[in-house]
Amino acid sequence: MLLNPTTEQFLDLDERSREIMKKTIGFFEERGKDALKQADHDRSFYDDFIAFQAQEGIFRDMLTPSAHGEGGTRWDTFRNCAFNEILAFYGLAYWYTWQVSILGLGPLWMTDNSTMHQRTAQALRDGGVFGFGLSEREHGADIYSTSTRLYPQDDGDYLAQGSKYYIGNANKAAWVSTFGKLGDGDEYCFFAVNSQRRNYECVKNVCNSQNYVGEYRLNDYPVAADEVLATGRDAWDMALNTVNVGKFNLGWASIGMCTHAFYEAIAHAHHRHLFGSAVTDFPHIQQLMVDAWVRLVGMRLFAKRASDYMRAAGPDDRRYLLYSPMVKMKVTTQGEQVMDLLWDVIAARGFEKDLYFEMAVRDIRALPKLEGTVHVNMALIIKFMKNYFFSPGEFPEIPRMMEPNDDSFLFTQGPTKGLGKIKFHDYRDVYRGSSLPNVKRFRGQVRVLKAMLAAAKPSKEQAKDFDFLLILGELFTLVVYGQLILENARLLAVDDAVIDQIFDTMVRDFSRFALQLSMKPQATKAQRAFARGMSRRPVVNRGRFEDVWKRVLAMDGAYSMNP
Ligand SMILES: Cc1cc2nc3c(=O)[nH]c(=O)nc-3n(C[C@H](O)[C@H](O)[C@H](O)COP(=O)(O)OP(=O)(O)OC[C@H]3O[C@@H](n4cnc5c(N)ncnc54)[C@H](O)[C@@H]3O)c2cc1C
Repeated sequence: MLLNPTTEQFLDLDERSREIMKKTIGFFEERGKDALKQADHDRSFYDDFIAFQAQEGIFRDMLTPSAHGEGGTRWDTFRNCAFNEILAFYGLAYWYTWQVSILGLGPLWMTDNSTMHQRTAQALRDGGVFGFGLSEREHGADIYSTSTRLYPQDDGDYLAQGSKYYIGNANKAAWVSTFGKLGDGDEYCFFAVNSQRRNYECVKNVCNSQNYVGEYRLNDYPVAADEVLATGRDAWDMALNTVNVGKFNLGWASIGMCTHAFYEAIAHAHHRHLFGSAVTDFPHIQQLMVDAWVRLVGMRLFAKRASDYMRAAGPDDRRYLLYSPMVKMKVTTQGEQVMDLLWDVIAARGFEKDLYFEMAVRDIRALPKLEGTVHVNMALIIKFMKNYFFSPGEFPEIPRMMEPNDDSFLFTQGPTKGLGKIKFHDYRDVYRGSSLPNVKRFRGQVRVLKAMLAAAKPSKEQAKDFDFLLILGELFTLVVYGQLILENARLLAVDDAVIDQIFDTMVRDFSRFALQLSMKPQATKAQRAFARGMSRRPVVNRGRFEDVWKRVLAMDGAYSMNP
């Protein structure tokens, strides 16, 4: 159900990918936990990891699409998920340099500029890392207001001026894909800058962490015509399409972090004796641990299934545009809940400097805030709600997508418009196929939500009020979340007890959001009545709970990092 680096054989991967995963685990385990924690406390930059990946050709092999590489390189979301999980399992900083390289590579592979394709492939062969210069200090999520400028010169080249803020790898990147506007006009552009050239001023790391999250300034930085990646609508689409690819990784980082923290939490709790018994004998500790474990298993089942849809995507199947922001938004906020639950179990131990846990409680908060906040992603997700509920489409069934193929569509996603027209397969099919008590109960809640959307749908004023829409979005998100979990439970033959226990948490979550909806000052009388109807109690089954608890307890001692 969860990654265990000491026993995982990566049998679903091909030989080279298995080697990458095992060598990466070996890199961290040989250094050991003491060194890992020391580097975190010293906030020392991860040069050693960058050198390791360069020596092993890891970013080269995993981040060069096959069209641009030699010797079997490919961009394969399935194996990238496994790598994401491993890196975050050992520390978010190591994951971050990989993640921002992925973002930086988005425009570099999406461009039609073949000269930049060749330079990028060479930089990967040289072991380089990359950066994505979208954000600016003054403008946050409002990228329409980007102030960076690219001024055309008489000789056909350009001079860039402006400053970017919160940019990962800004100190080292071979290329930073930079977003700006052309001349003094409003036309967007993307161009590549080299962090080691003159007129690129790496100002500082704006975060007090191992990560280099930099501010850089372009002081009349010369950009050759062949370093321009796109202009106009293409540049805008490049920004959004890159984020579609990148944000998916954030959920996997959350899963990796929670998994390592989980091993530490169960080991501590089970071996701590208070008042004559193990802490794990307390009923509330059992509830907290079971909730944490099933939430984590749910996160992983959902994210794995979302990966299938990412890989199956094409011009006629853009369902990934709903699932990717959910891996970003829903999975990462679930990760925060998992850490809250585990921290309540291990209490003071969670502050201790020799535990991985101490890093995870800090870093888990970052993920919902990067690459669009929860609100920004929710605003996106809500656009899909109408078609999802009321106008399903026909699609062939998507199997597990584990083949060692290149996911080339991710770099040719096309225009980012028309989200409201995207169709989804009928969510009711998989829900109807399950007779588990809590799935049935959840289905009943969803029916009331749908009835509300038909009979007491948000008014024009409510549809403009994001405070109201946010709660509606949470309810909608739960329906999609449950759907993909059920699909994967079937594909992976997950035990009923586990799935029913996952839905126990989902029934409770649905009821909580329904209560919040009914409390909203903007809710009408009819909507409040529907919200009350959505509020249900999960189906309690002590035997099922005990069954899941035994699985949780069996994780004690299953993994411990080398000291
Ligand atoms: C550690 C770290 C690393 C980062 N790495 C990079 C990187 O490598 N490259 C890069 O380009 N950026 C990077 N970022 C920037 C990150 O993507 C931004 O922080 C993020 O986009 C949100 O911007 P903001 O934090 O300034 O929030 P703001 O945009 O200032 O938002 C303020 C509030 O308004 C809400 N809000 C804003 N717009 C909307 C909307 N349309 N609908 C609803 N609510 C809205 C937000 O949810 C938030 O609550 C990084 C940030 C951090 C902290």
